[in-house]
Amino acid sequence: MKTDPPFAVIAHRGASGYLPEHTLAGVAMAHAMGADYIEQDVVLTRDNVLIVLHDLYLDAVSDVADRFAGRERNDGHYYAIDFSLEEIRTLRVHERQKPGGEPGFPDRFPHKDALFHIPTLEEEIKLIQGLNRSRKKNTGIYIEPKAPAWHLQEGRDIMAEVLTVLGKFGYRSRRDKAILQSFDFELLRNCRNELKTDLKLVQLIGENSWQESTAEFNYLRTEAGLQSVAEFADGIGPWLMQLVDTENNGNIEITALASLAHSAGLFVHGYTLRADQLPVAAGGMRHALDLLVNEVRLDGVFTDHPDQVLRWLHE
Ligand code: CA
Repeated sequence: MKTDPPFAVIAHRGASGYLPEHTLAGVAMAHAMGADYIEQDVVLTRDNVLIVLHDLYLDAVSDVADRFAGRERNDGHYYAIDFSLEEIRTLRVHERQKPGGEPGFPDRFPHKDALFHIPTLEEEIKLIQGLNRSRKKNTGIYIEPKAPAWHLQEGRDIMAEVLTVLGKFGYRSRRDKAILQSFDFELLRNCRNELKTDLKLVQLIGENSWQESTAEFNYLRTEAGLQSVAEFADGIGPWLMQLVDTENNGNIEITALASLAHSAGLFVHGYTLRADQLPVAAGGMRHALDLLVNEVRLDGVFTDHPDQVLRWLHE
């Protein structure tokens, strides 16, 4: 199965190469650039509201440590699930920082300028649907409920909460412009088989060492593993370095993963293409796109720079 548009440009955490990730400003910018989908990572607050945030904790992108000193857990992190929405609304959001306070990407938006706020999932969907109406577009949403197994340990069913909100906004079937993605094989399959969603589902594929979930990613990348994914999902989301292999003396080789996935009837959306963090062997954004689109035959890509991907596609 192929995606419909021919190649899906997915704005990774919004137009995150230009404005801090998961801010409404970055979402509006991604929409204006013409991305096919805008990605949302979501976690739950203490009062069970879905907010758009990449980490389970608030400290890498906000001033939570200044405003709520002493509310961190033993690992030093300030978990969103320990704060009410009202508290989270008081936080100021900035560009992602490393634990020492250094910017994650030195040439991006000034990381000391905390001009932004954390949106709820409902607010972000309203913004996208509002822009779809005023700009006569059909930009989609691409949602990742973060760490669903961890949320279950905390007594919360984040998958069910997400499906409820999506249904409320009219996203219910494969015909709707919404995709649900997860690293968690069991709980994503559960969305199809137990929660009975008809939405498009994407199995994210990482490395076992990342401990994103209990999924056995080395198996999922095999022909048999991909067949088991195809029983409930519509596509896979592998890491770019699983699609191309640069280990062999700097020579780029294309792995079998994309063609095996296509043979299993799955589309392939790779992550994450960043103009300011390309592997040296990629030889620049245009060369990387030529490789990914024309040789790997990706069906779409998560990118921090959707304008650059769109420009290349249009030329
Ligand atoms: Ca994500």
